[in-house]
Amino acid sequence: METPFYSVRMRASSGGKHIAGAERMVEQDEVGAVTFALTTRAMSAASGVADEIHCSVERIDPKTINYGKLPDLFTNEVSGFEEGRQRAAQLLNQAGVDLAIAKRAIQLLADGPGPNGAVMSGAVLLNMKTGERLEADQRRGVRVTRMDLSAACRTQSEQQLLAHGLGHRRVLEALTLAGKVLAAPGVVAELCWSDDPDYTTGYVAGPAIGYRRITTMKQRGDSKGGRVFMVDTEAVNLAGLVMYLEKQPVLFNEPGRIIRHDTGVITDG
Ligand code: AMP
Repeated sequence: METPFYSVRMRASSGGKHIAGAERMVEQDEVGAVTFALTTRAMSAASGVADEIHCSVERIDPKTINYGKLPDLFTNEVSGFEEGRQRAAQLLNQAGVDLAIAKRAIQLLADGPGPNGAVMSGAVLLNMKTGERLEADQRRGVRVTRMDLSAACRTQSEQQLLAHGLGHRRVLEALTLAGKVLAAPGVVAELCWSDDPDYTTGYVAGPAIGYRRITTMKQRGDSKGGRVFMVDTEAVNLAGLVMYLEKQPVLFNEPGRIIRHDTGVITDG
């Protein structure tokens, strides 16, 4: 019998405000340790003291899992957040998004994409042609879950990233999430920077450009951030896309390449 997997999800809030979240997909013997690690993380979130932490565990049928390769990672060193945002607009454009829509996505994250500038727990879905928001709930957004790395791929990727000075857990987590998003039907690009006031790195990713880290996307101390997925609505049925993002299990079993400096070359670093 194939080994079952479990989706482990954590989300934490303070005064009704999202402050931390994480998702893993692991084998049975890891569920206890992962639940412990995610709860511990929620207890020490930089964005506030959690007054509610929800951790859920759901069994996944191994036959439903899609397997894949992580995207290649390129790093863009920038001197400050203005240059970082300019670079992000160029990269979104390279990924296939009009400059005006790219700038709208950046502004959304800069302002806080939730109601009254709040941080969302999930992502904004943005129509890449009109700039219209597509997510049903603008407070929550769409939360991507049920993705992880196989144990061997995790070990290899961690070693590889560490060797490039990218050992921060956030890098591999974001790469995993982006890997699932880039394989989503109709998604042309993703923009992300964290709402964590101490973590200023962000990225742009797209099927056509891979995963492009940008070293500075906001000023230290700024607690706004989030994710925007830019969608070609002519290429996909929205309900099908949301179903894929929220429910389709994806396990990466092959690391991507790490390219230290982004030279602007898209397919071969
Ligand atoms: P983080 O990288 O964890 O700091 O998250 C930054 C922002 O990305 C959060 O405020 C959410 O808006 C969004 N986000 C985090 N995790 C997910 C996810 N699994 N699916 C969709 N959006 C997410």
